[in-house]
Amino acid sequence: MDGAVPGAVQDVPFDGGYGVYNLNPGGSIMKFSITTQIGRHELTIEDDAEDPKDFFRKAAFLSSLPKSCGNCNGDDIIIDHRKVDSFEFFEVRCLTPDCGHVLPYGQYKDGKGLLFAKQWKHRQFATVSDNGS
Ligand SMILES: [Zn+2]
Repeated sequence: MDGAVPGAVQDVPFDGGYGVYNLNPGGSIMKFSITTQIGRHELTIEDDAEDPKDFFRKAAFLSSLPKSCGNCNGDDIIIDHRKVDSFEFFEVRCLTPDCGHVLPYGQYKDGKGLLFAKQWKHRQFATVSDNGS
């Protein structure tokens, strides 16, 4: 197969804890998996890192995902994505009835895909009265 790197596919445990595997000994691609909690929901994420810096960027982001709602402290929170026209919204959303808070994530200007958490806030839906003059 074109593009295959000889010897690239060997599951060699690289480090404990985060389950980092070096699939390309001597190369720069690191495959890793991280298991984390989003509220009561467990997520296992598998990804590649270009180099150790890239791994830290991705692992730091995944480790920073909230374990509970910043408003009501409830653990029924989910990762949410919305698209309105050409705008995308990346949020962690609390499902606790009557809470209505979200943790919006901002995008870095380099547009490389990493996000950073802002502050928990009450979801404000645009309504006619909100936009009325
Ligand atoms: Zn909440």
